[in-house]
Amino acid sequence: MFNFDFQAATNVLFGKGQIEKLPSSLAPFGKNVLLTYGGGSIKRNGLYDDIISKLGSDFNVFELPGIEPNPRIETVIKGVELCREHKIDVILAVGGGSTIDCSKAISAGTFYDGNPWDFTSDASLVGETLPIVSILTIAATGSEMNGGSVITNLETKEKLSFGARSLAPKVSILDPSYTFSVPKYQTMAGSADILSHLFENYFDHTKDAMVQDSIAEGLMRTVHHYTPLALENPENYEARANLMWASSLALNGLTGSGKAQVWSCHAMEHELSAYYDITHGIGLAIITPRWMKHCLNETTAAKFAEYGHRVFDIDYMDDTMAMAEQAIESTYQAFKNWGVPMTLGEVGIDESLLSEMASQTIKHKSLDNAFVPIKEADVLAIFKASLVEMY
Ligand code: NAP
Ligand code: FE
Repeated sequence: MFNFDFQAATNVLFGKGQIEKLPSSLAPFGKNVLLTYGGGSIKRNGLYDDIISKLGSDFNVFELPGIEPNPRIETVIKGVELCREHKIDVILAVGGGSTIDCSKAISAGTFYDGNPWDFTSDASLVGETLPIVSILTIAATGSEMNGGSVITNLETKEKLSFGARSLAPKVSILDPSYTFSVPKYQTMAGSADILSHLFENYFDHTKDAMVQDSIAEGLMRTVHHYTPLALENPENYEARANLMWASSLALNGLTGSGKAQVWSCHAMEHELSAYYDITHGIGLAIITPRWMKHCLNETTAAKFAEYGHRVFDIDYMDDTMAMAEQAIESTYQAFKNWGVPMTLGEVGIDESLLSEMASQTIKHKSLDNAFVPIKEADVLAIFKASLVEMY
C-alpha cells in the first residue's frame, strides 16, 4: 500500500427532509449566495421552489442557471464574474457532477487573476476558494464529497480535470428522494460512473490493499443490486438511497487512498466527451469491458477472477483465465441488461476521429503506470473494439 493523506472533510447531511438544515448550513459563510444549477430539472421537480422558500429573506440569492452536462469553461467564467460582481460569500450548487464541478472551478476562479482553464494544467494555481454547499440530485460522480472538477473546452476539444482539497463541498445535502426524477438513461450512466470510479482504483498493481478493495467490492455489489431496482421503479427510496451513498463513497478517497490511482478508462472517456459531448457514464460503460479484455493476460487474470467471484458470485474454477473471461462478460452483460447502448455507433461516434482521440488521450495523460501500461495503439485498439458488440 502506498503512503497516503486521507481526509473526508465534507459534512454529509443524508436523508429525507435534510433540506431543513440548508439555512443553517449556509449561514456561517455569509449572506450572499450564488445558486448554481443545470438545465432546469430542479425547476420541474420542485426543488428550486423549495430552496427559494427555505432561504427566504435571510439571504441575497443570485443565480447561475444553465450549467451544461460536461460543463464548459465559458460558463465557469460567467460564474466568476457573478461572484466578483455580487461579492458572493458561498456557492450553493444544486444538481449533479456537472453543476458541482463547474461551481468548484468558479470557486477557485474567483480569486485567480487569469483564465480558470489554467487550473487544468496546473492545480497548484488554485489559491483562495469560495466555500461550496451542494445539494445532490443524481447519484454518479462523487463530486459532492471530493475536491475534483472536470471542465470542458469545446474550442480546443479538451475535457480535463483538476482538484484541490479546499474545493470539496463544506456541506452536501443528500436526499435520495431528489433523485426520483432522474431519467433512466442518466440513472444507468450514473451507476456506470460509480462502478468505473471503483474499477479505476481496484484494478492496479497494489496487492496489499484489502481494506480498499473489500470496500470497493461491497460498493460494486450494491450498485449491481440496486440499479435494476431504481430503473424499474424510479421512486424506490431504498434503491436511490443506496446508489446515492455508493456514489459518494466510491470517490471520496476511501477506496483510492493507498492505491496507484492511474485512471485509464476516464482518460479515454474524456476524449469521447470532449469530441462528441456524450454522457460520461455511458462512454465509460462502453469502454470499460473492452479495456478489461485488453488488459487480460496471465498476470492480471487472477485479479479479474477474484473480482468475478466477489462481485458476481462466479464459482472458483481451475481455469483462472476462463473465470476472468466470465467476469468481464458479466460486466458487459450487466450494462447491457440495464439498457446501456454498448457500442460507440449507438452514441453517434464512428471511426473517423478514433486515431486523433487516441493520440490526445496519451497527450493528456501518461498511462504507463496503469494496471496494464496503455499506449496510444492500445487506446486505438480499445476504441475500435468499442465499435462492435463484444458478445
Ligand atoms: P450531470 O451532467 O450533472 O447531469 C446529467 C443530466 O441529468 C442533466 O441533463 C441533468 O439535468 C439531469 N439531472 C440531474 N439530476 C436530475 C434529477 N434529479 N431529475 C432529472 N434530471 C436530472 O450528471 P453527472 O453524471 O452527475 O455529472 C457528469 C459530469 O461530472 C461529467 O462532466 C463528468 O466528467 C464529471 N465527473 C466528475 C467527477 C468528480 O469527481 N468531480 C467524477 C466523475 C465525473 P439538469 O441539467 O436539467 O439538472
Ligand atoms: Fe467519472
